[in-house]
Amino acid sequence: MDIKHGFVDAVGNTPLIRLNSFSEETGCEILGKAEFLNPGGSVKDRAALYIIQEAEKAGTLQPGGTVVEGTAGNTGIGLAHICNAKGYKCLIIIPDTQSQEKIDLLRTLGAEVRTVPAVPYRDANNYVKLSGRLASEMENAIWANQFDNLANRRAHYETTGREIWEQTDGKIDAWVAATGTGGTYAGVAMFLKDQNPQVRCLVADPMGSGLYSYVKTGTITLEGSSITEGIGNSRITANMEGAPIDDAIQIDDPTAIKVVYQLLQKDGLFMGGSVGINVGAAVALAKQMGPGHTIVTVLCDGGSRYQSRLYNPQWLAEKGLA
Ligand code: PMP
Repeated sequence: MDIKHGFVDAVGNTPLIRLNSFSEETGCEILGKAEFLNPGGSVKDRAALYIIQEAEKAGTLQPGGTVVEGTAGNTGIGLAHICNAKGYKCLIIIPDTQSQEKIDLLRTLGAEVRTVPAVPYRDANNYVKLSGRLASEMENAIWANQFDNLANRRAHYETTGREIWEQTDGKIDAWVAATGTGGTYAGVAMFLKDQNPQVRCLVADPMGSGLYSYVKTGTITLEGSSITEGIGNSRITANMEGAPIDDAIQIDDPTAIKVVYQLLQKDGLFMGGSVGINVGAAVALAKQMGPGHTIVTVLCDGGSRYQSRLYNPQWLAEKGLA
């Protein structure tokens, strides 16, 4: 018998999928870790689970307690599922720029959701800072603090990174992924480098994010913008501190959109926007490295979360991206 004991036990151990059309085009093996197949539908189920489990072990989260988080959506969705499965309450602070699908889903899952204006991190009312303040004012509540809580990258070091290493039999030349908190990128990069320092680790970055300029020049500069959600940052989070970074690749929205539509039409994969950045970067890297290499990236979530935007021709046309 092979039975998963509830939601929590079903997190992780996702397939590694060869992206056939991109592999054939580049002569490289371009592989996507299928995180959209987690039970909560995204890569963030892993971080959410580790954050809650570590708080339980530390005794900071007691029965009937509340998990509070500022999130672009997927971490909140993962937390809300796990809170239901474990009997906790969940309070989510989300910027009002995020897709309605994610906000509606959070409410359906039973989380209390507060949408707030999207303001920069330096502002005291930034959604992340606000969530921390609210948690500190509540009884029996924890702040998940996904950006700076290292339980996040530990989840990816101990599970995602190890799984990728085992699924490829260690035959992997490069790892490339965009970062939101950086937990996925950093945890996997650290695990892979510990197994083989020759594995190249690259940050993929959308326009409007500061990681690309940080890697290339040492200073964070923000230029342009992106319709992708859940990725890009204007600071180095605790989860990114000390993570190995060999290089960075910047991918613009037109490229990312072409990639997600090719994934849909040629590979049968219905993916979210950050996957366009990730696979776009994997393809760019394949062209840099030349044929014969194995490049792994992450398929963070599915396209249904972005039906009204990325998969809505009218919305794309309004953004000049038709
Ligand atoms: N893609 C999507 C759709 C996400 O929601 C997130 C998390 N915000 C990421 C990528 C990046 O993951 P991480 O926080 O581990 O860097």
